Amino acid sequence: MSSLAKSAKPPQVSPIQPVELNLDSVFQFRCHKDIACFNACCRNIDLQLTPYDILRLKNRLGLTSSEFVARYTVPFEMDAHGMPGLKMTTKPGTSECIHLTEEGCSVYEDRPAACRYYALGNVAVRKKDAGEIEDAYFVVREAHCLGHEEPHEQTVAEYRIGQGLDKYDEMNNHWRKLILKKRSAGPTVGSPSERSLQLFDMCSYDLDGFREFIQNSKFKEIVDLPPEQEQELMDNDESLLKFAMSFLEQVLFGVSSVKVRPGAREERIRERQAVWAQRRQQQVAKHKEDLQQQYGE
Ligand code: SF4
Ligand code: SF4
Repeated sequence: MSSLAKSAKPPQVSPIQPVELNLDSVFQFRCHKDIACFNACCRNIDLQLTPYDILRLKNRLGLTSSEFVARYTVPFEMDAHGMPGLKMTTKPGTSECIHLTEEGCSVYEDRPAACRYYALGNVAVRKKDAGEIEDAYFVVREAHCLGHEEPHEQTVAEYRIGQGLDKYDEMNNHWRKLILKKRSAGPTVGSPSERSLQLFDMCSYDLDGFREFIQNSKFKEIVDLPPEQEQELMDNDESLLKFAMSFLEQVLFGVSSVKVRPGAREERIRERQAVWAQRRQQQVAKHKEDLQQQYGE
């Protein structure tokens, strides 16, 4: 099941209908303000946020990304390697979404992807013998949701258009693919370093922090950023998020997605080698000192 799905606390019986749907599949569902269960789905949330969710919500609320994260999210680990994830916070002492009001969602036009998908589950799968990742859909039918009883049929593609999901998927797909690639690489690639986890956190959830990061002189010494591209990244959050994902891919998998200045990589390796050699010398000296203390001269 997609980790992006908004769902109730673990149910006794899975709400996911075990029939895989594609874009042309027809399913019955309609949600509207006059339905008896209005808001019920927002009163018991477990809602993972994506980078584009955060971009939309922080801009709507007039906050920086770090202010939004501090006020409206709780951290969790997405996997055993400690890949950082964020969930929407709830009202104190409840599992009700912080953005829920009596009139409904107070951030409706900028609600997260999981809220848009709800009623459908979405998983990214790598099909057998196919390199490409494909989307598969499932109906998610929870007891409190009466929308499934409404006499309204639509295709998955029509539902996606109505929910504005194309834009959200376009902006989140690179990120989802990076996570999937990391997971499917398994233990052969090893645990990500502390530094790469920090960069994952910044690129995914702190766009304004990333904007400052790329203005840093160290970054500019390595990455070849033409002035017009830099200006575009300073002015446009969506361009910045796309660039952050390319940079992250380079950090995590060594894919040359971002243009590096000629010789900068080699220079960086030389610098790192000098740091590693110095560290190694310190470790050897410390080891000698410990032995002397333990066994005397
Ligand atoms: S963001 Fe809006 S739609 Fe999503 S759970 Fe919260 S109140 Fe509901
Ligand atoms: S129909 Fe389902 S999605 Fe719509 S308000 Fe009711 S519980 Fe939420």
